[in-house]
Amino acid sequence: LLTLDAATVRFGGRAVLDAVGLDVAEHEVVCVLGPSGSGKSTLLRAVAGLQPLDSGRVLLDGHDQARVPAHRRGVGLMFQDHQLFPQRDVGGNVAFGLRMRGASKARQDTETGELLELVGLPGAARRAVAALSGGEQQRVALARALAPRPRLLMLDEPLGQLDRSLRERLVVELRELFGRLGTTVLAVTHDQGEAFALADRVVVMRDGRIAQTGTPLDVWQRPADEFVARFLGFGN
Ligand code: ATP
Ligand code: MG
Repeated sequence: LLTLDAATVRFGGRAVLDAVGLDVAEHEVVCVLGPSGSGKSTLLRAVAGLQPLDSGRVLLDGHDQARVPAHRRGVGLMFQDHQLFPQRDVGGNVAFGLRMRGASKARQDTETGELLELVGLPGAARRAVAALSGGEQQRVALARALAPRPRLLMLDEPLGQLDRSLRERLVVELRELFGRLGTTVLAVTHDQGEAFALADRVVVMRDGRIAQTGTPLDVWQRPADEFVARFLGFGN
């Protein structure tokens, strides 16, 4: 579904993404792990077409993302700080994702209801965003990202601001949800427990490069180098 071919992004002469090559298959759930500043968000933004590449290509179904208009890219992105629209209610936020697909008003209402049920917030459409807890807001952001039915859903620290018990519960729910919808997912996290619970495959980043990719078990049992081992908490 997705191919990164020597994707490179430079800021001030420094390669923040350094010739990254990556393939993501349809229905695969891939989690990107790595320390702060290793280029994880930049990778997602590049795939979403929000960050122009200095060299290399991002291919979606073999089509160069740079040549496809934004609304036809079929990718959804949920940002690190989820950025809900505070002046709109829950339903207004979710419907935004539906309008982007050109859904009729009636259709928007039905689907908003369905999506809110899906993320465990049934009947919440008329609630004010500001009155929701952090966990509820992240669920709304997820519903909004899922609304255009993206073939590729990208999540940047989707559970970032939540406490541990809520994270653990949502990880299980998300895993089940993605399986049911057959969504291809590229998710960033710096929590390895989360990545290992969610992912078919993990990608460990270091300084704009992929230090290792493999199944969670592979990476856990056979870290490619000392950096990965240390990042996973072995040795010290
Ligand atoms: P975190 O875990 O803290 O979110 P990250 O892995 O997502 O980190 P990125 O946001 O991809 O890291 O940033 C990678 C590097 O690129 C950082 O050193 C950051 O300061 C730098 N960077 C990102 N965006 C820009 C920008 N617009 N201009 C200059 N430097 C940038
Ligand atoms: Mg980031």
